[in-house]
Amino acid sequence: MKEILEAIESGASSEDFAAMTIPESYRAAYVLKDEADMFEGIDSREKDPRKSIHIGEVPTPELAPDEAYVAVMASSINFNTVWTSIFEPLPTFGFLDRLGRESKWGARHVRDHHIIGSDGSGVVLKVGSAVRLYKPGDHVVMHCNYVDDQDPSAHDDSMMAANQRIWGFETNFGGLADLTVVKANQLMPKPTHLNWEEAAVNALCASTSYRMLVSNNASAMKQGDKVLIWGATGGLGGYATQLVLNGGGTPIGIVSSPAKAKLLNKLGCEAVIDRKAENYRFWKDEHNQDEKEWRRLGKRIRELAGDDPDIVFEHPGRQTMGASVFVAKRGGTIVTCAATSGYMIEYDNRHLWMKLKQIASSHFANYSEAWEMNRLINDGAIHPIMSHVYSLDDVGMAAYQVHHNLHEGKLAVLCLAPQEGHGVTDPEKRERIGEKKLTVFHRHAVETLDPQAEDD
Ligand code: NAP
Repeated sequence: MKEILEAIESGASSEDFAAMTIPESYRAAYVLKDEADMFEGIDSREKDPRKSIHIGEVPTPELAPDEAYVAVMASSINFNTVWTSIFEPLPTFGFLDRLGRESKWGARHVRDHHIIGSDGSGVVLKVGSAVRLYKPGDHVVMHCNYVDDQDPSAHDDSMMAANQRIWGFETNFGGLADLTVVKANQLMPKPTHLNWEEAAVNALCASTSYRMLVSNNASAMKQGDKVLIWGATGGLGGYATQLVLNGGGTPIGIVSSPAKAKLLNKLGCEAVIDRKAENYRFWKDEHNQDEKEWRRLGKRIRELAGDDPDIVFEHPGRQTMGASVFVAKRGGTIVTCAATSGYMIEYDNRHLWMKLKQIASSHFANYSEAWEMNRLINDGAIHPIMSHVYSLDDVGMAAYQVHHNLHEGKLAVLCLAPQEGHGVTDPEKRERIGEKKLTVFHRHAVETLDPQAEDD
């Protein structure tokens, strides 16, 4: 790995990379099959990723003809890192077993350890015999849509593929490691003005938000649409807010602290609701919701935005879905991709059908949607929302932060990259876009956010 890193840092040629020996083992973050019941009987909040995520050497898998080995310079924490590490709603080893039954290549994924991580930036080291468009030495980012392109159901919209999977969650050999194995159709060119860690945090959350909001496959936002965004400084929400602004809409962002409200203003969102300060209690008790609270939220949105939201960007699930269905405009869309606070949701169906609203479901993004999103980032229209950077050794701690909602935006993880700030190949473009825009969420910016202070 030392030799590989030296080659990357010194800008070695494609031939140099092609001549390198792939190491037999590499450093990775993983959970263990025989620990999948370690948190049994413990409340979800008490399940601690620092106990279940291990860092150590793992054997390098063989390369399939349609795959590439990539030296991972940086990766990121996603909420699926949390789900895997607390073994909820299911231990992920069942997904690997299912993949293992599909083919000889699928069988490689069945191991006693699951290497996690569904994002990454890095350098292609070697490609399989069927790979045409990428070569050793290419700087890439990786999206997490893992599909079998010989399956007819994977065409048209690959998210509809019968065996569609998320890399590093429903497959092994994830991105939180010094090396990974991905299908060539997961590769995209790395945005040239970003460093490794900034480039690593975008693909999963940004592409998911793109499909939810921009793509015809979900809510297909129009110019002028008002969009209510839950968790507007979170992983999904930070990109959703930017996509709404970039697409000529008006975001109404919901967050849970004055500092996050300020961060949202910095991102360009003027209509902000602090759900904690305004103390919304949508559930009176475990079984009953409070329509008065839905109305209070709806009134607040009208005060701020002048109208009801055309689109509600939903992912908290049980806690908020009743309110989301209620506040959406007549004929509006509630687009959902998750249920962080519980997946058995409840809403008043009268408010849905009588006002001709619809609920659209969405899940990650197909290659084309991920590619379009990556293009927006490469063009400097949408920016990374990286707040903090962790070392691979501290993945457990980083996942803990996300599990307990102690973070903003995205948490990056340095894998092979020896320190922050490396990997920019177009410094002029970076200068043109401007450091200020690229670092709105950066820890220094976030830590100095004083809700009382005047805007600078
Ligand atoms: P994140 O970085 O933790 O952000 C989520 C935000 O939601 C938080 O910042 C928080 O903001 C808000 N939130 C959390 N609990 C809430 C509650 N009970 N009520 C209202 N707001 C709440 O996570 P993320 O990366 O955005 O992911 C969010 C969810 O989407 C996760 O469940 C994840 O697994 C899922 N996801 C699904 C896909 C897919 O393809 N289907 C892709 C990515 C993520 P405030 O506290 O500031 O309000």
